[in-house]
Amino acid sequence: MSDAVAASPRVLEVEGLHAGYDGAAVVRDVTMHVAAGEVVALLGPNGAGKTTTLLAISGIVAAMAGTVKVLGEAVGSRRPYRVARRGVAHVPEDRSLFYQLSARDNLRLGVRRGRADLAGVLEYLPALAPLLDRRSGLLSGGEQQMLALARALVARPRLLMVDELSLGLAPLVVEHLLPLLRRIADEQGVAVLLVEQHVHLALEMADRAYVLSHGEVVLKGPAPELAQRAELVEASYLGEAATTTPGP
Ligand code: ATP
Repeated sequence: MSDAVAASPRVLEVEGLHAGYDGAAVVRDVTMHVAAGEVVALLGPNGAGKTTTLLAISGIVAAMAGTVKVLGEAVGSRRPYRVARRGVAHVPEDRSLFYQLSARDNLRLGVRRGRADLAGVLEYLPALAPLLDRRSGLLSGGEQQMLALARALVARPRLLMVDELSLGLAPLVVEHLLPLLRRIADEQGVAVLLVEQHVHLALEMADRAYVLSHGEVVLKGPAPELAQRAELVEASYLGEAATTTPGP
């Protein structure tokens, strides 16, 4: 992480977040932050609560306790449209595209307050340009994932949350798409929070990471440090809480 990023304002601040379903918390006491221009990976085994954490930040799942602040202002739960208006774009695990609509119409639906920069977005994802008039349901998995990312970007987010970008994609596509998130953070100053199953790839391009296990943060620190201490990350994947928590 550069000094400039370290000194950047925090776009996302989560403090003591509890969230879950039907009154039962599956995420407990999660505290984390993401600064402008920073890429932060949220890692952990299946069922650890990564998706729930993103859904709670987006206001889709209600927070039972704790606070979520975007650009210094608390966002209430169950108000996803307000969270989006604060500049949060969320690419969910299932992509949530309108498969009957063209790629172009899906992008139009992503535009926030009439501010769109389609040309700028296509510079990041040029492979989408010839596909804009194709029905999105006819696109390949990788193309649909690019479209979901593009739809998030046309909203010009301050915080971009991406849930399992690599899900169901060929390794080559993943190796192309993940570094894009790094470029977006570096060039646009967007804060990026990503959930990723390719732990090594994620740690290669992230500045910092948090590891969740059974709904709690068991490990956090600078990504290069965590990459060096793979045994700790792996232990948390086996459900063994790490004994040390390096880094800020
Ligand atoms: P994965 O990588 O498998 O998506 P995850 O770390 O994202 O895992 P979550 O999807 O957040 O984990 O799930 C955390 C826990 O919450 C799991 O035990 C899961 O079964 C439960 N859960 C998820 N969605 C719901 C729901 N809609 N209703 C009830 N329980 C749910």
